[in-house]
Amino acid sequence: MTAALPVGIEEIEVAARRIAGRVLRTPLVFSSALSERCGVPVGLKLEHHQTTGSFKLRGASNAVLSLSHDERARGVVAASTGNHGRALAHAAKAEGSIATIYMSHLVPENKVSEIRRLGADVRIVGKSQDEAQEEVERLVAERGLVMVPPFDHPAVVAGQGTLGLEIVEQMPDVATVLVPLSGGGLAAGVAAAVKARKPTARVIGITMDRGAAMKASLEAGKPVLVEEYPSLADSLGGGIGLDNHVTFRMCRELLDEVVLLTEAEIAAGMRHAYAQEREVVEGAGAVGIAAILAGQIEIDGPIAVIISGRNIDMGLHQRVMNGEDDPFRKEAAA
Ligand SMILES: *Cc1c(COP(=O)(O)O)cnc(C)c1O
Repeated sequence: MTAALPVGIEEIEVAARRIAGRVLRTPLVFSSALSERCGVPVGLKLEHHQTTGSFKLRGASNAVLSLSHDERARGVVAASTGNHGRALAHAAKAEGSIATIYMSHLVPENKVSEIRRLGADVRIVGKSQDEAQEEVERLVAERGLVMVPPFDHPAVVAGQGTLGLEIVEQMPDVATVLVPLSGGGLAAGVAAAVKARKPTARVIGITMDRGAAMKASLEAGKPVLVEEYPSLADSLGGGIGLDNHVTFRMCRELLDEVVLLTEAEIAAGMRHAYAQEREVVEGAGAVGIAAILAGQIEIDGPIAVIISGRNIDMGLHQRVMNGEDDPFRKEAAA
């Protein structure tokens, strides 16, 4: 069944060998607070400690390392909500290439300046990732740069899948994996790896209820557009692309369930991460914890929770720690 999918365990194993030494093998740590709450072991995969602050370095590194010499010399380009841009900037520089990154105006300033600092050429265009994507396609056509998309690309999905391999190695009896979900590159790769090694394990995608593109697409039976709104989980924003080639099919085939969360639930997840686990986590990174706390996960353990990123403006993080549940409510209602 999985052999027919665009990315399988073989590609993920190749990716793991290719990116070894360029990305960190992040720890999976036992959470006593969550384990006590669930009555089964709960492990946190601390991928927010990855170089550049998110798992996106795995896919970006695998994609850049898959390029020919000529392609690397021309440079890579992407539209990104932030973490993919950071990762691609770092991965390109590490291999002697250069990344041009397009972003929409919705992307927070801290992410923009970070990516510039990593050596990328950053350009701000439009009000949505789809508009940024149009600019990318123009540059590819006009200057022959190589596009490395944030999720819908076999090399990117295979790179993200290496996280799933590590989880099964670090928690061999894992029964449930909680994966933050947006475009589905992480969920597709992790599910492909986990289910190849452990077919009985459940893989559950988790996202915010504000503009859940993959969930809406799975329900429609094909990729659909959803409106974008500002959210605490800004890294989960953006569509899946109407001409999605890789992640929609894989998520449809491999995910057991998709759970949606409110802003208040995501905020509670971030506060738990900080107060109980002593971890600074961005909204998107906290959704696995948030889903457990919200009672949205049927408990079947051991449970592995992917903490996917930590790139949040610290002023915003502070406001959430001080009890704000929905800093973007006004903008979302407008
Ligand atoms: C990109 C991202 C996600 C979602 O990954 P997809 O592959 O788009 O589903 C989740 N968390 C963080 C921190 C991210 O940067």
